[in-house]
This record gives sequence, C-alpha cells and structure tokens, in this order.
Amino acid sequence: MRRRVLWVKGLKAYESEPMPWKTWKRDMTLGALALLVLITGWLLWPKDEEALPGISYRPVYVDAREMLHLTQVLSSDALAGRASGTPGNEAARGFIHKRFEEIGLLPLPGFSAYTHTFPIVPREADADPIIGANLVGFIPGRTPGEGPALLITAHYDHLGIREGEIYNGADDNASGASALVAVAEYFALHRPRHDMIIAALDAEEIGLLGARALARMEGLGLSRVALNMNFDMVGRSEAGELYVAGTYHTPQLVPVMEAVAEGAPVTLLLGHDRPEDGPNDWTLQSDHGVFHQAGLPILYFGVEDHPGYHQPSDEFDALTLDFFVRAADTLVMAALAVDGELPQIHTLRRSPAPEADQPEGNAP
Ligand SMILES: [Zn+2]
Repeated sequence: MRRRVLWVKGLKAYESEPMPWKTWKRDMTLGALALLVLITGWLLWPKDEEALPGISYRPVYVDAREMLHLTQVLSSDALAGRASGTPGNEAARGFIHKRFEEIGLLPLPGFSAYTHTFPIVPREADADPIIGANLVGFIPGRTPGEGPALLITAHYDHLGIREGEIYNGADDNASGASALVAVAEYFALHRPRHDMIIAALDAEEIGLLGARALARMEGLGLSRVALNMNFDMVGRSEAGELYVAGTYHTPQLVPVMEAVAEGAPVTLLLGHDRPEDGPNDWTLQSDHGVFHQAGLPILYFGVEDHPGYHQPSDEFDALTLDFFVRAADTLVMAALAVDGELPQIHTLRRSPAPEADQPEGNAP
C-alpha cells in the first residue's frame, strides 16, 4: 500500500543480481541477530498482569498482547523489511504461520497446508525469478463448504532494505497482518455464521501479486466469496481515525458500516473510494483492488497517509498503540456485521472489469 511508483524500484533492488557470498554471510549474521532480538523482545515484553505500554483501552474482542508482540517482531530490524524473496520475508511468514497454527486455523478445504506459492517474474529480463508465498487459513461457519464465504486479507511483505536503510513497515503492514491474526483468533474461538478464508498475502508492494495469485488459485472457490475485507495500515493515527473504503461501489454496505461506526472505539470514517478523489481514491491501491476488479464488494480498512508512509521511520515505536488496539476491535465488529449480512451481500457482485482496466502487474 498504496501508490504504485515504488514498485519498479523495489523489484530492481532485489532481483537484478545473484546473491554474492558476502550477502549470504550478512544474512547468516542477520539470522543470528534476529534470534537474539526475538528472545530479548520476548523477555522484555510485559507479562499477562502488567499493563501494555501506552494503552488505556481494554480490548473487547482481540488479544492485544499477542497482536502487538507479533507486530513488533514483524517490524524488527532482524526481518530487514520483509521484501518478497528475502530471508526476512520468509521469517515473517514463519511467525505468521506459527500464529495460524496456535489459533487453530484449518488449511483451505482440499489442501493440507497454509502455504501457497507462486512465481514472481522480475521486470529485468536477466534477473532470476523469485517465489512468493501466501498463507491461507480457513474457519468453518455453521454449514462448512456451503453458502457464501468471507475473505479477509492483509499483506505481510514490505519494501526491504534500500540504500542501506531498513524499511520496517510497522504500520505498512505489520499492523494489518497482525490484526488479521487477531481477528481470525476471535472467529476461531467464536464460530462465524459463514465460512471465513483468512489470507496473509505476499508481494503486495511489488504489484498486488499475492492477491492476484490468490484470486487465480484453483480450489479457492472465489465464486463463493461474497466480499473481501482487507487490512493495510491500521496501527498509526494520531487523530484516532480509521477509514473504510468500498461502500461507494456497494452502497448497500453504507448502513452496515455506519452501524459499526456508531459503536466503534475509533472514529470510523467512510470514504477514499470515489473516482473524483483522484490519488486519494484507494479503491485499487492495495490487495482489495484485485477483488474489486473481479467484481466483488470490498471493504478496505486503513489510516490516512502519515509521515512514516513508505519511509524508514515507519517503525514500531511510531505506532499509536492505543488506536491500533481500538482499530483491531473495530475490525472484528465490522467482520461480525458483514458475516451477519453475507447472503444479501453475495447478491451484490458486479461483472468483472475487462482485462484492460485491471491494475498493472508483472505476474504471469
Ligand atoms: Zn501496504
């Protein structure tokens, strides 16, 4: 998320040359450092009875401690900005995979694993292709395998290292990936009415490639998916404002989200989804864009751009943690509201956009 200018640059930085021995050595050192950081982080993290730093809000739905810890881990220097195809990205995926297991997500029906890989073809002709990987989990509803399903997504990749600086991407999108796990945990404990597909997506920053791979995936059952909820940048707002975009395209969702906004512990604002918003129209600017183009209703949740947006200063310490926890509770409330209306929402699909209008990308 969100603006496409940086994608080409990102790809070039990683894929134009084979990895020399020195880089391997650096990666080994980084690996050892990663372990140290994670162990220290775990020891220093407040135990159950202690208050979380900077948080006065007591969450109703989410496990804030686990969510913030995962965010801190994903955005630590040890993971080196989680660029697709790098060891830091793989490590990030490993931590999310562990949480998927811990909270009891099932693999998608018909599959035995969460991990679904896809090739990424670099723009430079002589560069080696890399492999992207989505993690997809499943929460059965009351009639598993039948009726409409809700697809909830968040990307876990970020920009990596550029000119020696680590882009930690704490808000973009360690926050959304961790909130995804927190929301999934709630529904794993409180069975939803309808099936839920929980997807942590790779390669968003280089062209929404994980979302494209998911949309094409055999066995996903996209025709059953009534709506895509996408979380991208939900952890940093001094104003305490979370946006939900997408109701412009599906006006029937306006009252559903307005009802959520009324009871939400953040200021939930509808918008950033009209053509006349120009660059502030977020309809195609993160993974939900792929599902919007496929004709699905979408609800994208995120904050207004802030000074840390796509900067090395997008760090864990700059998150507004009290807001983040409130936002995560709001996301559960929104998912509950959508789950309740899912059969009606499933009738609101549009026909897919013609290929020419699809957002550009380099995936096969
Ligand atoms: Zn993002």
